[in-house]
Amino acid sequence: MHELTLLYGVVDKVGKVVEENGLDHVDAVVVEVGEATSVIPEFLQDGYEVISDDYEFLRGSELIIERIKAIGLCRNCGTEFPIVANRGLCPECGSFDKEIIDGTDFFIREVRIMEQQKG
Ligand SMILES: [Zn+2]
Repeated sequence: MHELTLLYGVVDKVGKVVEENGLDHVDAVVVEVGEATSVIPEFLQDGYEVISDDYEFLRGSELIIERIKAIGLCRNCGTEFPIVANRGLCPECGSFDKEIIDGTDFFIREVRIMEQQKG
């Protein structure tokens, strides 16, 4: 499953952040998922719950998924438009010929760490 590969990449990167900052635990990981990627957020969420249990620094943490809208640039008239809301068609001229200019990425935006309580 595609999502698991991405998740192991996330675990790897968060693990490095944890190590570099001398932390022992993170509270949440925020990822951005473009609408134009083939990533299914539900799979990502379910996978995270399973995987995060295997790593001490992730145990009990939360995966926060933020969606980035897929934006198309019409090759016919040059209009920029949200692809999903317009079902892939340019709202100005009705053309299906477009370039996807945003929403194609998957990346970690933030690793959230609460203040570590002592004692
Ligand atoms: Zn157009």
